[in-house]
Amino acid sequence: MERVLLIRYGEISLKGQNRRQFEKKLQENIEIAVSAIDVDAGKRVSKSQGRLYVTGIQTQFEHDYLEALSCVPGIVAVSPGFAVESDLETIKQAAISAVKQAMPEVSPPATFKVDTRRADKDFPVKSPEVNREVGAAVLRNVPGLAVDVHNPSIHLTVEIRPGHTYIYRGQVPGPGGLPVGTSGKGILLVSGGIDSPVAGYMAMKRGVAVDALHFWSYPITGERARDKVVDICKVLRKYNPHLRLFVAPFTRIQTEIMDKCPEKYRVITMRRMMMRVASRICRNTGSLAIFTGENLGQVASQTLESLSVIESVSDFPVLRPLICFDKVETVRLAEQIGTYDISILPYEDCCSVFVPKHPVTKPRLDAAVNAEKRLDVKQLAEECAMNTDVFDIG
Ligand code: ATP
Ligand code: MG
Repeated sequence: MERVLLIRYGEISLKGQNRRQFEKKLQENIEIAVSAIDVDAGKRVSKSQGRLYVTGIQTQFEHDYLEALSCVPGIVAVSPGFAVESDLETIKQAAISAVKQAMPEVSPPATFKVDTRRADKDFPVKSPEVNREVGAAVLRNVPGLAVDVHNPSIHLTVEIRPGHTYIYRGQVPGPGGLPVGTSGKGILLVSGGIDSPVAGYMAMKRGVAVDALHFWSYPITGERARDKVVDICKVLRKYNPHLRLFVAPFTRIQTEIMDKCPEKYRVITMRRMMMRVASRICRNTGSLAIFTGENLGQVASQTLESLSVIESVSDFPVLRPLICFDKVETVRLAEQIGTYDISILPYEDCCSVFVPKHPVTKPRLDAAVNAEKRLDVKQLAEECAMNTDVFDIG
């Protein structure tokens, strides 16, 4: 009797080559996720008939596996269970073990139900009969248990497949979506606030292999601001283990803007400079889009007028997954993905020390261009991109 995790994945609309690529990427990503718990676990990931399995799970690590897999985009749900030989007596023993193991987790009165799926039509006993036999064996061997077919506290599934039978209970949801790496690469602008990590999560959930880019204005903003971004990226690595953090030195650009640009257009100019640098990083990394945490109407720089003036200098599509979210929706997701508590730590954002009293809310493109006339935007962006380094996030 071997402990296994059954992994269900979705996007059934995918066909042919797409589906194969989806499954291959998902398997690779699962191998990476479980290898972090046990170096050998990656070798125990296998695919069979529209499911992925991790075998040889040690009891004491089961929780860690479930937690890691619940973060892998493409996974719909993970169920812990057992793999046994397709033999009725063995199936009964495994069912008893599974229910015994579940008992401490449910509040009394404990009830249960067995659901059998006989995918292997050569198995001699039909599903209703397996339900009855296994149900009776469990009742005889586990005290304090009753049957409830409508609303059981322990729902046991017996899946008889050619070669093996899987017995499992319950399921832990995954993010769903597409495996990271099936939709190309993107650059996520990460500020340290609540929104950008959530935007990154949503991009990753649609299969984008995201790298993070942070504009750091040292010493206007301190090490703590950068460390906070590092901590956020560590969390985001649960969803994309390959995520890198690029830190772009932004002090010179910010000081030049302070010295040479009209106050009202400062924030717009700064954002346009970010886009110019990000476009260069996109090109250098083979990325195809820039992702931001921008959202309609929260602040002056996030009106439709502002967004269009900002993105007009980008060479790549600027994608904003949160554009129509309410703040509460974003906060809920930030809590769910584990970045919220880091994001709300106090810090000095390069923007917060920079925002004028009366920023323009409906900027015009010609005025934005005019506001930059004393800056050598090309040279500044080039220099910033050239000095942008991958920061080791451990
Ligand atoms: P966030 O919560 O992500 O900070 P926000 O609603 O506070 O978003 P802004 O601070 O105006 O909005 O920033 C809008 C977006 O611009 C951010 O979501 C982020 O994608 C990008 N951004 C802002 N500041 C930086 C920075 N220092 N480095 C990289 N990207 C940034
Ligand atoms: Mg912010």
